Amino acid sequence: MSSPSWFCETQLRDLPSGCRIMITCDKCGGQREESVRQLVNEARVGAMYLDLIEWAFSCADFHCGGSVSFGIFTPVEVAKHTPAMLLRA
Ligand SMILES: [Zn+2]
Repeated sequence: MSSPSWFCETQLRDLPSGCRIMITCDKCGGQREESVRQLVNEARVGAMYLDLIEWAFSCADFHCGGSVSFGIFTPVEVAKHTPAMLLRA
């Protein structure tokens, strides 16, 4: 695995709540977007590490069920020290 280590060491709630996560299906390429605030408050995964959440999520299309990759981005210039976007093949 080529995951940057911060991805395994960062809990969702450690991200600025203004961050958004682009969830891309590895299989069909379908994308959806979730806000960190929404995931913490509604999905209650704030205490989970990012790599575990990524692993736990699957494609929004029930019939696809592919695994997903997270891209984390923030609408404001906050995250100079964390990658603005994760690109993983
Ligand atoms: Zn899919």
